[in-house]
Amino acid sequence: MRKRFVAFGVLVIAFLIGYKIFAPNERPQRIRIATGGESGVYYAYGNALADILERRMNIPVVTIQSGGSVDNIRILRSGRADIAFAQNDIMAYAHEGINIFSTEGGFKDFSAAVCLYPEACQIVARRDIAGIPDLKGRRVSLGDEGSGTELNALQILGAYGISYADVDVDHLSFGASVTAFREGKIDAFFCTAGVPTPAISELSADGEVRLLNIGDAHARTLIRQYPYYSRQIIPSGVYPGMDEEAETVAVKASLAVSDKLSPQVVADLLKILFESRAEIAKISAEAALLNDKSALDGMSIPMHPGAEKYFFDR
Ligand code: GLU
Repeated sequence: MRKRFVAFGVLVIAFLIGYKIFAPNERPQRIRIATGGESGVYYAYGNALADILERRMNIPVVTIQSGGSVDNIRILRSGRADIAFAQNDIMAYAHEGINIFSTEGGFKDFSAAVCLYPEACQIVARRDIAGIPDLKGRRVSLGDEGSGTELNALQILGAYGISYADVDVDHLSFGASVTAFREGKIDAFFCTAGVPTPAISELSADGEVRLLNIGDAHARTLIRQYPYYSRQIIPSGVYPGMDEEAETVAVKASLAVSDKLSPQVVADLLKILFESRAEIAKISAEAALLNDKSALDGMSIPMHPGAEKYFFDR
């Protein structure tokens, strides 16, 4: 009896060791990446990355379209994605369960893998709108439902003493904003994304838009209140038809990863990402901005052990 009990115990331990070594997440059967709306940078970058990962890791890699950062973190939280594109400010709010995530509470089971590129808070407006204060009473898209853009829009308007009630609010994706703008249905839209953003390039060529400035004093107020912002200049000529530079603030586009992904998988993924910068940049120019230093600059939540392995134990 005792022998059988010991044998059973040995079996259980062997099973547990085996399970740990060959745990399902050690080498996932597939990888799911939450991206964004079709005319954003996350979508293009994410799909290019997915194709390369699929080829190099030899497992299916699928992408999920979404409203943006807030949606993506929720998708990650619900277990429907393994990797998510997200702004570093939104990742921090989700991790701490504050701000837009205060009712859901903190979500700790995810980490940062890498910071990819700066995302400028771009406020695209009709030429007759001279500045942010003039947005009062106008029809403005603050960003898609579930976007990080919307939160940035509210914080920026807030810095100017403008609230939701002062503008005629719309929630449109970048692509839908371009269409609505051309049809005269909106006067301005917010777009937190890598520069140049394809949707803005497309629209600026019409010659009817400008980017509104966030001047010195307001940028300082914002940065003091929300530490994930930094200042950014959008040089003239980045967008066809826009010949003035614009001053604004920026956050960092990052890859958030589920803690269920093993350190080895995350380290492999980062190696492939870095090796494929030039290839991804053919589809999404922002990939060329990735380097060892900027990858760690602006990380707003703890780093995944696989990222530590990749960045520090090479
Ligand atoms: N940063 C944007 C957001 O979360 C999305 C940017 C993009 O799709 O490229 O709202």
